[in-house]
Amino acid sequence: LPTRADLIDYQQAVAGHDGTLCDVDGELFIKPCTPAEIAFYESSNAAHQDFADFMPTFLGTLTLDEQQNGQTIDEAGAALIAKHTMPEVVVPTKPSKKIVTDQAVVLENAAHGYVKPNILDVKLGVRLWADDAHPDKKTRFNKVTEETTHKDLGFRIAGMRVWQGHNAVGKDIDAEGYKIFDKNYGRFSVQTANVNEAFRKFIFSESAGIDEELGKLVAQAFHTDVCRIQKVLEGQESRMFSASLLFVFEGDGVALRSAMEEASRSPATLQNGHGNASSEDDEDDELEDTGPKIYSVKVIDFAHAEWTPGMGPDENALTGVRSMARILQELGNA
Ligand code: ADP
Ligand code: MN
Repeated sequence: LPTRADLIDYQQAVAGHDGTLCDVDGELFIKPCTPAEIAFYESSNAAHQDFADFMPTFLGTLTLDEQQNGQTIDEAGAALIAKHTMPEVVVPTKPSKKIVTDQAVVLENAAHGYVKPNILDVKLGVRLWADDAHPDKKTRFNKVTEETTHKDLGFRIAGMRVWQGHNAVGKDIDAEGYKIFDKNYGRFSVQTANVNEAFRKFIFSESAGIDEELGKLVAQAFHTDVCRIQKVLEGQESRMFSASLLFVFEGDGVALRSAMEEASRSPATLQNGHGNASSEDDEDDELEDTGPKIYSVKVIDFAHAEWTPGMGPDENALTGVRSMARILQELGNA
């Protein structure tokens, strides 16, 4: 049976806790998590499909210790291959006394399939803590809100990595040529007044071959998806504290341009599987899965998320989503 030994450290996380894993092919993303996060994935897939469409595909759960009795990596991989079907929900057979970090969600790796994935984590919310948070945490997080774009815009940049082109060297540029913007960037360098410039650093990169024309198309595509997410959130009753929007797009300008040209010849590929499935024959349906990746927007991080019938939409998270939509529209039209 595959075990923890079949997994390797995930190298492309731009924020969050250490300890995320992936399979050797990089198709799966495995995150140690709480039972609450697992429960939110399960309930979303069971009863809130329009929202689940914007979550990473949930392939099941995994127990990370020796006697694992969760889903195996082989099973999760098979489920990924069959991803047009609903993932099997893995329900623990008995209440577990294991520490919570033994449990992990197995998700689709949203950064898989790109030549040079540019990745951005935008943490949502004005208020960052859930009702059950320790008073010290509330105080700490309120200070973060006060000092960052959370206060005015309802989000902050939690981290990003942006490919800078072949042979790029310089400050904060790693061996593969990605410029790393760590948690301090959105915490201390980005303010409401310069926030558009921060997103420009993510989307536009001359040295990677992403010029004004190409970057605007990316911003417009992101804008379309963020507006869809806004619509879905406005129509549901949930609360998410410190969830994120995870933006990924092809950071290699040459690969991006050719992927977009291919998509324009075969429109079904353009929306990354969201809607627009207008193809009429099976051949096109297959292309949809094999075409080069262009971009995706996902909602992630549900450690403090729940369905709250009767409470109305999540205006706290929506503040950030609406701000993002506005900024992306500005970048797409500038
Ligand atoms: P944490 O609770 O530690 O903040 P997150 O769910 O926010 O965990 O994930 C941490 C980081 O891992 C994110 O910033 C992102 O870079 C990466 N990540 C999360 N989910 C996925 C996914 N499905 N595919 C690819 N990367 C992911
Ligand atoms: Mn996070």
